[in-house]
Amino acid sequence: MQRVVIVGGSLGGLRAAEQLRMAGFEGELAIVSAETHRPYNRPPLSKEGLLATASIDELELTARVDLGEASWLFGRAAVTSDLVNRSVELDDGSRLEFDGLVIASGIRPRRLSAARPLAGVHVMRTWQDSQGLKADLRPGARLVIVGAGFIGCEIAACARELGCSVTIVSSDPVPLRRSVGRVVGEIVRVAHEDRGVVFRSGVGATGYLGDETVTGVELADGSRLPADVVLEAIGSTPNVEWLEGNGLDLSDGVLCDQDMRVLDAEGVVAVGDVAKFPNRRFDDIPRRVEHWNIPVETAKRAARTLAGALAGDEADQAEFRPLPAFWSKQYDFRLQAYGLPHLADRVVELDESIADRPVFSYMRGEMEVGVVAFGNGPTLIRRGAALGRSVARTV
Ligand SMILES: Cc1cc2nc3c(=O)[nH]c(=O)nc-3n(C[C@H](O)[C@H](O)[C@H](O)COP(=O)(O)OP(=O)(O)OC[C@H]3O[C@@H](n4cnc5c(N)ncnc54)[C@H](O)[C@@H]3O)c2cc1C
Repeated sequence: MQRVVIVGGSLGGLRAAEQLRMAGFEGELAIVSAETHRPYNRPPLSKEGLLATASIDELELTARVDLGEASWLFGRAAVTSDLVNRSVELDDGSRLEFDGLVIASGIRPRRLSAARPLAGVHVMRTWQDSQGLKADLRPGARLVIVGAGFIGCEIAACARELGCSVTIVSSDPVPLRRSVGRVVGEIVRVAHEDRGVVFRSGVGATGYLGDETVTGVELADGSRLPADVVLEAIGSTPNVEWLEGNGLDLSDGVLCDQDMRVLDAEGVVAVGDVAKFPNRRFDDIPRRVEHWNIPVETAKRAARTLAGALAGDEADQAEFRPLPAFWSKQYDFRLQAYGLPHLADRVVELDESIADRPVFSYMRGEMEVGVVAFGNGPTLIRRGAALGRSVARTV
């Protein structure tokens, strides 16, 4: 019987397992997960999950089809791999041989390199991370958030609701600039300032103060901010070390073709946050996309590619051009987006904007590459659908 090993048992790994069954793969599935819990949904961890007393079981993601002959190896990590001899070595010294391999090992938070490990300094990726932070977010606590991306802003909003004082430190001039640009970033900044969040923009953090527990944050301009709690939210590092030594391109993720086939490796595909792939909807440049719908979409394509290869069938000829979609909940507003707004060189506010629910179109030259809305669901859905239908492609 053929065996497919899936490394990573979160959203991407689970959806890849399902999609392999849906694509007709009848062999054995072995899913290796460094985490000890069944797959769970991460978005609530930085939103309502920080405010409510939820249990991890409520966040569990379930398989939508019968996975049949599937073994889950929880609390085990792949440490090395030999893609020529087709095996993966796990951290308990055991070895799993495979006919096909799915790389679904995701990402981890990037760390501030100069910083020492101190109590009170947190990152946010796992259920355990959210529980640790939640315990420290007591009313009156002084929280400093390093990084002004989505996770930093969402946690700032929760922390204000929990009665903490919040300062966001970022080398960017406005929050969310790298993903949605200055215009939308400015609206988000004002929303936070109206609720008492203080921004220290245009200056990065260089390290932390304190012996065992953090007492403050040092900034690049030499100033110091007092802190009882720190959240580091400064981007991500792909989990690819276990693939080293196989001659793969592992610069910022695993390089794939448009069928999610890993370049220079037979019978190996990648899915989700770790996969760097070209999306011809935009251009031919391979990119990683850290949005919830991408593990789902890439799992579909990767499973068809791998199941086809294992059965000796022709590759899927249709062009793979998934439309990225993401959302963020902060205070009483919901920001939603389609496409890749960060590729734009111009942002246009649309006539459909109403009062405090603006909608923006993101243009690169004459091509629309994204749409972002605050609330305004019907307009967003209509514009998103139009974007999805468009042949937004440059060559
Ligand atoms: C706090 C938070 C909030 C988010 N909010 C949103 C949102 O509002 N909207 C949105 O669109 N997206 C959001 N996202 C992004 C979304 O959750 C991710 O895109 C999605 O979880 C990626 O799934 P994945 O399976 O590719 O990777 P991951 O979820 O990172 O899973 C990878 C798994 O592989 C495991 N692993 C790593 N290395 C190994 C190894 N060597 N061996 C075995 N296992 C390994 C990891 O422990 C992990 O369990 C959010 C993410 C976070 C963290």
